[in-house]
Amino acid sequence: MITRDACIARDEVDPLAPLRHEFLLNEGEIYLDGNSLGPLSRSAQQRVRDVVDQEWPVGMIRSWNAAGWMDMPLRLGDKLAPLIGAQPGEVLVADTLTIMLAKLIGGALRLRPDRHVIITDNRNFHSDVYIAEAMATQAGRPVEVRAIDRNALAEHLNDDVALVMLTQVDFRTGEQLDVAGITALTHAAGALMLWDFAHSTGAVPLDVTAAKVDFAAGCGYKYLNGGPGAPAFGYVASRWLEQLENPLSGWLGHARPFDFVLDYESAAGIRKFVTSSPSILALAALDGSLDVFARSSMSALREKSLALTDLFIDAIDDRLPGVFELATPRDHARRGSQVSLRHADSYGIIQALIARGVIGDFRDPNIARFGFAPLYLRFVDVYDAVEHLVAVMENQEHHADAFRERNPVT
Ligand SMILES: *Cc1c(COP(=O)(O)O)cnc(C)c1O
Repeated sequence: MITRDACIARDEVDPLAPLRHEFLLNEGEIYLDGNSLGPLSRSAQQRVRDVVDQEWPVGMIRSWNAAGWMDMPLRLGDKLAPLIGAQPGEVLVADTLTIMLAKLIGGALRLRPDRHVIITDNRNFHSDVYIAEAMATQAGRPVEVRAIDRNALAEHLNDDVALVMLTQVDFRTGEQLDVAGITALTHAAGALMLWDFAHSTGAVPLDVTAAKVDFAAGCGYKYLNGGPGAPAFGYVASRWLEQLENPLSGWLGHARPFDFVLDYESAAGIRKFVTSSPSILALAALDGSLDVFARSSMSALREKSLALTDLFIDAIDDRLPGVFELATPRDHARRGSQVSLRHADSYGIIQALIARGVIGDFRDPNIARFGFAPLYLRFVDVYDAVEHLVAVMENQEHHADAFRERNPVT
């Protein structure tokens, strides 16, 4: 039997517990949606205030130089790099994830001009597949996007495959894929590997260098807590930085943007992947939020994340046996930082939980999804969330009329 007191005792000895105070969380709420929109940190709030109180109103246009605005995409890239095991100069923060993927896909296709296939996952996030198809039509040669069963990747690899693009943690089930193993398989076929770390970065330890990943991208507003619509990041292994070109070339990826010449010449290094003016307000929030990560390590975050998801799964087994089907792997090696439960009434169940102040989300057709962000969640939060879920099911709160109509954002 798991008790509430035992959970409180675990929080008391949790070395990450003090970091919770860095976040603005609503009293009495349990936020299990940091995988979709991370909360605001005090350091992000302060960094945005610096910009709106000083750098913009006082510094005005001088701040492009004096406050280092122009270099923020690269500076934040270097700050983020340790979270994915990248080296300085290999990561850029800009755009949004779908746009960043477009740049990497378009660039990668030019590195394999004799190949005609992009392989992706038939359970991938739809936007990744849409943008792959869009870039395929821009390739200047026939390119087919093949969405396959990811477990059958080996059967689909051959010398016509230019690129394999997979999302490491499945947004529905929270299943985590083996980055090093899949990258090696892809390379053995002469193809390039692009990983989407949207649901990994900030929650799952990654080592792109050891895994020999070619390209990667990830999201700023999920576990990185960079704010709604935060900029994304892109990673290019240093061995590709000279050859890989940005297919969405713009003035700020030019070697000398202030020469205003019409012939395009790429900047050296990762800077060539900047297209347009950096969004300073948005970058400032992400800049501040990354400071919180500097106070921990990915291995400590992973250890707590697994302890939280283990506790949730055990408590569900214990308190609601046979009610839900667990969509998330029990095996630690295959689990990200979320737990997904299947139930025919998942939409109503999530709405009833939200009405009780337990914030999760719903993913079509039947998934109730709970994200466990180790920076600010307590063990007692997990315990209380499960007790709320027990009450929802016992009282049939999910059948309330108010929850029949679906909101546009689920
Ligand atoms: C969240 C997410 C996106 C969303 O990307 P934006 O373009 O930044 O809105 C794309 N792909 C995956 C896998 C995601 O999880």
